[in-house]
Amino acid sequence: MADSNRDPKDIIDDAISFIKKERELYGDFSVDFESKESTKNESPATQTTPTDNNAVTEPSLQESSSSGNNQQDEGFTPQEGLFNKDESNDVYYHIDKCNSLDELKTLCQKADVLRTDLEGTQLVFGVGNPDADLMIIGEAPGAEEDKQGEPFVGKAGKLLDKILNAIDFKREDVYIANILKHRPPNNRNPKPEERERSLPFLLRQIDLIEPKLILAVGKVAAQTLLDKNLSLTKMRGQFHDFRGKYELLATYHPAALLRHQKWKRPTWEDVQLLRERYDELGGQP
Ligand code: URA
Repeated sequence: MADSNRDPKDIIDDAISFIKKERELYGDFSVDFESKESTKNESPATQTTPTDNNAVTEPSLQESSSSGNNQQDEGFTPQEGLFNKDESNDVYYHIDKCNSLDELKTLCQKADVLRTDLEGTQLVFGVGNPDADLMIIGEAPGAEEDKQGEPFVGKAGKLLDKILNAIDFKREDVYIANILKHRPPNNRNPKPEERERSLPFLLRQIDLIEPKLILAVGKVAAQTLLDKNLSLTKMRGQFHDFRGKYELLATYHPAALLRHQKWKRPTWEDVQLLRERYDELGGQP
């Protein structure tokens, strides 16, 4: 509960130190008033997570545009997104013709449709073992990932590596990608239309890798892949069927764990489940 007797200077100092930490993790940011407005009329699946009554909602990487408040779990069908409607643009049509990750990467490099409205970003395609039996999917590249062109290389990435090590995976055993392949400006949440435009590329990437298991880290990744507008609390802790071909487990985003200790235990439970299922399915190594 807020302490009304606190010295306003202390409150300001706390706020400054919070902002400094966020900036350290995600680079410079500002409040995106426009996207707050524009999320009001979104389709349910693309709204942000509803809060559980007694749970703190997991902050996603880019919290500033969160405004969702309903529990519906229907929404856009990724395959019917704007890609397949725009017959004038070859780029959209060749996704399924890419028969290797290299071909898909080359296509992604040309695909302006993957860009956000932040200029000059580089493609963060994905990294790891192309034959991985486990694929990790996060939200979107941050500042460090954009700089290095590789997902999860900042502070959250270091924690992800530790989590993987704790369940006997090395980073190079698995394949790591994000819902978005370019960094959003001001580290805001990926917009629904950005997720929709990126998804066909990611789905192809998944099909080329054919992992036995997918770990979606964070609310944005889980909601986008499962096409559900549920809280992470509701989605985590169980395996979901993913497109009839894969099993998907959702857990907290490592960046959220850096801020909220209380999510470490459920994450630990989730990743142990993941390892167990991986071994049951004969995952290599
Ligand atoms: N957070 C993500 O979701 N993805 C990254 O690549 C880095 C941080």
